[in-house]
Amino acid sequence: MNKNELGVHVLSPKNCDIDILDNGRTVKDVIDNKIKELGPDNEEPFYVANLDSMYERHLRWLANLPRVKPFYAVKCNNTAAVLRMMSALDIGFDCASKGEIQTALSLGVTPHKIIYAHTTKPMSHIKYACAHGVDMMTFDNEDELLKMSLCHPKAKLVLRIAVDDSKSLVKLSSKFGARLVSVGKLLERAGELGSEIIGVSFHVGSGCTGGSAFKQAIADARQVFDIANLLGFQMRLLDIGGGFSAIGDFQGKFEEFSVIINEALDEFFPPDCGVQIIAEPGRYYVESAFTLAANVFAKRVIFDEMDEDSDGGENSPDRIMMYYLNDGVYGSMSCIVFDPAHSNLEPYLHRVNIKPSRHMRKYRSVIWGPTCDCIDKITDGYWIPELHVGDWLLIDNMGAYSVSVSTDFNSFERAHVYTVVTAETWRALNLSQTFDMPCSYFITKHCIVC
Ligand code: PLP
Repeated sequence: MNKNELGVHVLSPKNCDIDILDNGRTVKDVIDNKIKELGPDNEEPFYVANLDSMYERHLRWLANLPRVKPFYAVKCNNTAAVLRMMSALDIGFDCASKGEIQTALSLGVTPHKIIYAHTTKPMSHIKYACAHGVDMMTFDNEDELLKMSLCHPKAKLVLRIAVDDSKSLVKLSSKFGARLVSVGKLLERAGELGSEIIGVSFHVGSGCTGGSAFKQAIADARQVFDIANLLGFQMRLLDIGGGFSAIGDFQGKFEEFSVIINEALDEFFPPDCGVQIIAEPGRYYVESAFTLAANVFAKRVIFDEMDEDSDGGENSPDRIMMYYLNDGVYGSMSCIVFDPAHSNLEPYLHRVNIKPSRHMRKYRSVIWGPTCDCIDKITDGYWIPELHVGDWLLIDNMGAYSVSVSTDFNSFERAHVYTVVTAETWRALNLSQTFDMPCSYFITKHCIVC
């Protein structure tokens, strides 16, 4: 552990990989510092993860959806700091595999705070959940019912239904969810097998643009509850899934959807009906918490040979700049290909090397990722001032489906995550407990010490 000039232990990335934003320091200051610290010979990409952003989103959740307990979807971003923060906020976990359950349990999450929310599960994963006391799990078909009755006979089952996802950018009901017409038969089969059905789940699709999808899905869930209750099941859980976002075109949508959801819950599942309401938000909690910093490690200037008037000189309008970043589609930015809810990335120049000015000449630019594949293109037709090898670009809102989806294709290193939090949040949530600090902390005039 480091000591400062007063001889006290200083909380630093070296001893706990988390940095406290004290004395008005911002995320951008931390990025400046990291770039300086890394120096010219170490240009690996990195993220700065801001725990305060997750805390703000949680407060916004509590204010808008007070009846709905969030179970964070681990798949969206499985960084240890993110999961620890969710734990500190007393959020549950939606895990999709044995590996995700293992990760959650290894952080001290209690099994009853986990829902194994995947309707098609390998038997070995079901057995693992059973052996570790993770009982709540979803299903949507008879084969899965059979598997679960064999591998986890005491499981508490949640029937996932297919819902209208036509207003969502990622349409999950094409792959998952029982149709309403087949629900009766499925529940009867569950009764024959002696399975315990406790509730219904749905997912309106990621990047949902229309709140009416939630209303219809909640009404559909009510129908399934009524059928299940008639068959003698003790129905007590409604899981309204994910699909929430609050950035870009989705700004304000969270509040708009919340009003619709609250009204539908009050109509179909009034507060005194004894049904617990949960959700599985992923993107909503982490999307704005991560900023990615990537380095321009190579550059090519090319000329449009079709333009006869071109002299190929500096002022030719046909110069196209090609930049190569050390992170791309195979790394943090697979969202460009796989995530229609976040496919437009707008990297911007970090301020260390150049002071941006409005009068700077702009060039048509193409930004590529580092691998040998030409699908590894971050943006095209992007008009920006000239960049130089060694410049750093930043991309905001990179928390969702980035870290957890990245590969090290061509053996390019995955971006490292540095975590920051303000002193107020650190104290308010007593994060020294959650982040396994080696000792307690207190604040001096100039620094946080632990
Ligand atoms: N729950 C399930 C079962 C999912 O498949 C997903 C995303 O694919 C989520 C929750 C998280 O969705 P979102 O990130 O849109 O909140």
